Amino acid sequence: MLDIHGLDVHYDGVHALRGLSVTVEQGEIVALLGNNGAGKTTTLSAISGLVRPGDGTVVFDGQEITRDKPHTIAARGLVHVPEGRRVFSTLTIHENLQLGGYMVRDQAEIRKRIAHIYELLPRLAERRDQQGGTLSGGEQQMLAIGRALVTGPRLLLLDEPSMGLAPLVVASVMRLIAQINAEGTSVLLVEQNATAALGIAHRGYVLENGVRILEGHAVELRADPRVADAYLGGM
Ligand code: ATP
Repeated sequence: MLDIHGLDVHYDGVHALRGLSVTVEQGEIVALLGNNGAGKTTTLSAISGLVRPGDGTVVFDGQEITRDKPHTIAARGLVHVPEGRRVFSTLTIHENLQLGGYMVRDQAEIRKRIAHIYELLPRLAERRDQQGGTLSGGEQQMLAIGRALVTGPRLLLLDEPSMGLAPLVVASVMRLIAQINAEGTSVLLVEQNATAALGIAHRGYVLENGVRILEGHAVELRADPRVADAYLGGM
């Protein structure tokens, strides 16, 4: 479904990605792990058109999208939820969700998708007329994911959805992602929290300094002593 090959990204003086290759098959959750500065966010930005790669290709559903504009890429069903939630704090929860439908012409379809999100996330339904900024961190993260779902994605790019959340809240965000995936959306999940990500992912990659240093099935990565030492807190 997504095939990234030989991706190279330079910022001023920083070689952030060096020949990175990553694939996501239809129906998968793929975790992209690594420490601060490893190049995870850059990978998502290069896929969604926010950053121009110097070299390499990004192919989505058999079509090359490298260097396409972000809105064209999103319209194809490849939707990026950036780090830091970015909920519109003065708009209500319902208005935040409606904004997700800006590219969708069919109003009935938007209503149907929002109704489904309220089923998945009853706490948002209870608070639909409350301002986005009044939600807890975890609820804002779920709202950001919910808003992305209104666009009808086939592949979601999620950037550190666990950031700054307490462990129990991280667990509910991960359950939400697993449920969305079970309903048919593929996911590329960037996380520093390797334990949480490998708990729901099918496969994963580990990046270091813009290079892929490990890849494998989630079970294999969880059992790999190099992953345990560096990313699972030595468990
Ligand atoms: P984090 O978990 O901290 O977000 P990351 O794995 O997502 O880390 P990136 O944000 O992709 O890493 O950064 C990769 C490298 O590129 C880092 O060395 C970072 O300092 C650098 N970098 C990222 N964005 C820019 C930018 N806009 N200008 C210059 N350098 C950048």
